[in-house]
Amino acid sequence: MARVVSGIRPTGKLHLGNYFGAVKSFLKMQEEHECFFFIADIHSLTTHPTPSDLHQNVLQVMAEHLAMGIDIEKCSLFIQSDVPAISELYTYLNMNAYIGELERSVTYKEKKATQPKNINAGLLTYPVLMAVDILAHHADLVPVGKDQQQHLEMTRTFANRFNHMYGTDYFKEPQAYSNTGELVKVPGLTGQGKMSKSSGDADTIVFDEDEAAIRKKIMRAKTDTGPTEPNMEKSEELQNLFDIMALVSDYSTIAHFDDLHQKATIRYGDLKKQLADDVVSFVAPIRERITHYKNDAAALAHAAKIGAEKANESAYKTMKEVKEIMGFRKFY
Ligand code: AMP
Repeated sequence: MARVVSGIRPTGKLHLGNYFGAVKSFLKMQEEHECFFFIADIHSLTTHPTPSDLHQNVLQVMAEHLAMGIDIEKCSLFIQSDVPAISELYTYLNMNAYIGELERSVTYKEKKATQPKNINAGLLTYPVLMAVDILAHHADLVPVGKDQQQHLEMTRTFANRFNHMYGTDYFKEPQAYSNTGELVKVPGLTGQGKMSKSSGDADTIVFDEDEAAIRKKIMRAKTDTGPTEPNMEKSEELQNLFDIMALVSDYSTIAHFDDLHQKATIRYGDLKKQLADDVVSFVAPIRERITHYKNDAAALAHAAKIGAEKANESAYKTMKEVKEIMGFRKFY
């Protein structure tokens, strides 16, 4: 069984894209591997959230992941700041990370351009903290998107450098865990590629959102003016709606609307209404569970505690061993 580490950004509410693009792979991985999924609240400090936003966001993602089926008996779902050894290891590894290589990080360069008024040291050393998140648990596999590949590469560099500096083979190189074969890209509702918060509220179908709001968004989704003759190719906007339908509707429903489109008798209002019904049926039980968890402080506390216990055990052991290797020896 491989060890997997993956971070979750505590930013806002989950949408259909997050579910089919990330959470579903967590559900699969927790069955097959020893997983550490953490809510990256320390990382999120680089954007200076208010204390109450930080807390609400962590609570939200915790409730959402439990509601979507993350099983605390099968994996460790923990909050990064609940594991002090992470911060301590971060201090040690920072000493072996060079400014030049950190400045070359693509994400750092991007942030420098997009938030020039807040280029803090945490942004620069973000890859070090990320390396610690991975190395603290001796992960074999890390699911990474394209934007995180360089960070994984840096993690390997830091691990190898540590080994080399101290003449040890203590850290192994984590490998990228590619989900690309299994994951779908969920398109957005505004006709602009993948569903994304950054494309605005109208683009996303959010789980923790009421039924009326979801229906309204779908009824307003971008389409074209309709087929003018049989067997026309679908426009990108229309294909997007069919692609979302493929995730939530029965095969017969999709075949029905496909057929109407081919005959050029489709009415987009009907298609959208059906899609809205099916999305709502898909989302409703999950939303109910999110609400349940958000209001169940004891269940959240239990989950956070169990997750922290597992993660602390593993990270604390690593931290002690790292200190030993580096030459911190106890005098008492
Ligand atoms: P974000 O919080 O937007 O960075 O999304 C978190 C993760 O959800 C990403 O790393 C992707 O794996 C996944 N994700 C987000 N949007 C989509 C989408 N439209 N389709 C597929 N996966 C997505």
